[in-house]
Amino acid sequence: MTSDPVVLAVDIGGTSLKGAIVDASGRLLHQEAAHVGHLQGEAIFDQLRDLLDRLRKESESRGLSARAAALIAPGMDEVNGRVMFASNLGWRDLPLRHRLEPHLALPVATGHDVRTAGIAEGRFGAARGARDFAMVMLGTGIAAALVANGQAISGARGMGGEFGHMPVIPNGELCPCGQRGCLEAYGSAGAIVRRYRAAGGDPARTAAEIVAAAETDALCGRIWREAVEALGHGLVTLTMLLDPALIVIGGGLAEAGARLFDPVGDALRSGLAWRDPPPLVASTLGAAGALYGAAALGFERIGMGDAVQRWRIM
Ligand SMILES: [Zn+2]
Repeated sequence: MTSDPVVLAVDIGGTSLKGAIVDASGRLLHQEAAHVGHLQGEAIFDQLRDLLDRLRKESESRGLSARAAALIAPGMDEVNGRVMFASNLGWRDLPLRHRLEPHLALPVATGHDVRTAGIAEGRFGAARGARDFAMVMLGTGIAAALVANGQAISGARGMGGEFGHMPVIPNGELCPCGQRGCLEAYGSAGAIVRRYRAAGGDPARTAAEIVAAAETDALCGRIWREAVEALGHGLVTLTMLLDPALIVIGGGLAEAGARLFDPVGDALRSGLAWRDPPPLVASTLGAAGALYGAAALGFERIGMGDAVQRWRIM
């Protein structure tokens, strides 16, 4: 008897590991997370290995056959299956695929988290059918997937799409990365909170609360205006470089809805003199996009890419 093939997919992030069992029709049959925000380095690797073991056990108990694991992480060099650098995980040059394949006795597919989410949005989500688009993740940090002619640009050393560390304010504030004036130092949820607190704001307020109070509270208004201005500069440059058919916005800040899309769309439009702006649209897959993208990599790794072609997620 042959049981139904599934992929064990894990989206590795700095605060949690999000795991899923995904079948060949693209259904998330089971989801499970492990919180790792208090951990670093090897301790996160141990949690990842344990999560994969639990997912495998769960699939066996359902009579399913795990055929591959698929892991996506920041800083991933997908060619070698190594995480080159992920500061919030404390991982540097970690050979994930090489260490996990013998443990699992399964093929392990690997992908960069944002690029994988971007490709998924192009295949199954808001950018379906677009060959040239960008997906910008506005969360604690900022990153982008730049998709040109259907391929996510990874660059010579896997560092393509580090949109958040593009300087937008000459000699601006110091970014945690060491450069000055980065987009992420003004426009990310992390920066909004940090800058608001540094200016004397209520330390208990979240980025979403600061954005929501922008019209009624002068300090919130100033911090948000500066964030929008920085995002506008960044998106103008992105538009000029890539000429995207559309820009998909994901990540936690995207949940601000019209409060984000209206002013940022205006900032993009006013920064462009001789061409129309590309539409800004919200991600339709949300946080699950990364898991669908990871699972697609897993099925492709075991020669089941045809099944992925038939997925209808939304
Ligand atoms: Zn930076």
